[in-house]
Amino acid sequence: MNPRAELRVLFNRQEIEAAVRRLASEISQDYRNKNPVLLGILRGSFVFLADLIRHLDFPLEVDFIELSSYGSSTQTSGKIKVMKKPETPVRDRNVLIVEDIVDTGLTTDFLIKYLKRQKPASVRLCALTDKPTRREVPVKIDYTGFTVPNKFLVGYGLDANQKFRNLPDICYFEGEA
Ligand code: IMP
Repeated sequence: MNPRAELRVLFNRQEIEAAVRRLASEISQDYRNKNPVLLGILRGSFVFLADLIRHLDFPLEVDFIELSSYGSSTQTSGKIKVMKKPETPVRDRNVLIVEDIVDTGLTTDFLIKYLKRQKPASVRLCALTDKPTRREVPVKIDYTGFTVPNKFLVGYGLDANQKFRNLPDICYFEGEA
């Protein structure tokens, strides 16, 4: 990372809050009587998921899966591994994957196929941010917060080498290649 790159806000906390409320209202219309399992992908989704569920006023369950994606660099390895499995059996359940960002699509494509092998009633994807310019495999995102430019984002759960997850805004580095 360029040490002279400056942190800039792409979406501030008010804009994020509005997007989370809109997503929650769309999700409520579809899932109100379905007792869904909201499956957060660790670790980036935990802030988004925590805010999202507090706008959902119907029965639901929360679980997490940890998938390896970027390791310690900002380049994807293209290989996805399950590091921690969900505890909840998803057979015949309505599963909503909650992700911070869909970039190449490799992680969510892998996860959707992984879950479908376990015969859930349905699997859908909610992504706070979508970076379509970097896509390597097509992924259907059912609920999208923001479509974002090809910049490396940090904050609101998103990290760079495990740092910056605690920023309340979604930011990028100006001056970064
Ligand atoms: P994909 O498999 O390339 O779609 O990448 C998904 C994962 O890569 C996300 O869950 C993030 O952990 C990470 N990632 C992709 N782009 C960014 C970014 O701009 N900032 C931080 N993490 C990212």
